[in-house]
Amino acid sequence: MSAPAANIAIGIDVGGTAIKGGLVETDGCILERRSIPTNPVEGVDHVLGRIAAMVGDLANHAASLGRAISGVGVGVPGTIRHATGIVEAPPNLPGWKNVPVVARLCWLTAQRVVLENDANAAALGEFLCGAGRGTKDMVMLTLGTGVGGGIIANGNLFRGELENAGELGHMIVAPGGRLCGCGQRGCLEAYSSATQTAARVIERIKRGEPSSLTPLVESGQEISAEQIVAAADEGDALAADAWRETCLHLAVGCINIQHMLNPQRIVLAGGMSAAGAKLLNLVEQLISENCSRMLGPLPVVGLAELGNDAGLVGAALVAMKTV
Ligand SMILES: [Zn+2]
Repeated sequence: MSAPAANIAIGIDVGGTAIKGGLVETDGCILERRSIPTNPVEGVDHVLGRIAAMVGDLANHAASLGRAISGVGVGVPGTIRHATGIVEAPPNLPGWKNVPVVARLCWLTAQRVVLENDANAAALGEFLCGAGRGTKDMVMLTLGTGVGGGIIANGNLFRGELENAGELGHMIVAPGGRLCGCGQRGCLEAYSSATQTAARVIERIKRGEPSSLTPLVESGQEISAEQIVAAADEGDALAADAWRETCLHLAVGCINIQHMLNPQRIVLAGGMSAAGAKLLNLVEQLISENCSRMLGPLPVVGLAELGNDAGLVGAALVAMKTV
């Protein structure tokens, strides 16, 4: 009997609302997927138990396909210790403090388990199987509730001394500017996350500036980045100015990344990257207007390709890369 083909791993993406899992090939192809609610209020033990059950289910499915799995990669938000497999204190998983996720899941699943920060995992996914294919050095900015980041240097995740590298949302792009959730002022995240883009629009409307979005704000509804871009397209001056401010700070961030790391590509991901050309074209224009040509070429910026699967695919690839 021939040995089963290897090079298939399980990726688990633990989010605040859902835990996604999948069987992933080396090329990023997802053979099978699962999704369950996170329900973090149930506590660490229950959540880990349900992750272990999902791993068992996916491993059984792999066996039914005649495939063996090489490991399990788990992507978790917040500060993690890749080397020791400990999750320190993820912001959207209350009660998870210094949880030895790798040791616990190894015990529960009898599989080899590797832990990674979710933004790093997503960056690795895009690097190997998405918008970073063919590059050696890539930086990813994830524009969602916050602004996440991941740095790939010479084909590997760059983690830094305390594994806190890649927190690019907290690079200061406007000294003395808006207060960020991290306590600093003027972080990229305080301007260019989807949440803060909407917050700036709402603040200005509440100060009395006219906008076609005023009825939405007055009714207490949330405003999405898509609605702001659409309003800007229809001639809403406030929406256009706020969107430009989002893209300007993003452009400044990209210029700083270019001077610091000179990556082959900067990839924009996350919910706001759905704005597509409306985001990319303005960011490129503002980079061109603000970046020195004396220090080398302008940064090459592109849009992510894997969408919501980047974290899941990347987590599996982390497990494959650390065999
Ligand atoms: Zn910050």
